[in-house]
Amino acid sequence: MPIYEYRCKRCGNEFELIMFAGDDDNDIKCPGCGGKKAEKVLSAPAGSNGSCQTCSSSKSSCFT
Ligand SMILES: [Zn+2]
Repeated sequence: MPIYEYRCKRCGNEFELIMFAGDDDNDIKCPGCGGKKAEKVLSAPAGSNGSCQTCSSSKSSCFT
């Protein structure tokens, strides 16, 4: 089940949601203010920027 991170455009609150098939992004409600203006935050996978944080090798040779 994919978990997505969202940020509320109204209050800036960040929260995570498990999206089920058929769920609509437009129906996401901020747990902080109840606002429905949330944008998806795309969190980069670990190690995508240069070196791996776990083993410090370059991302191309790291598979952890
Ligand atoms: Zn909010």
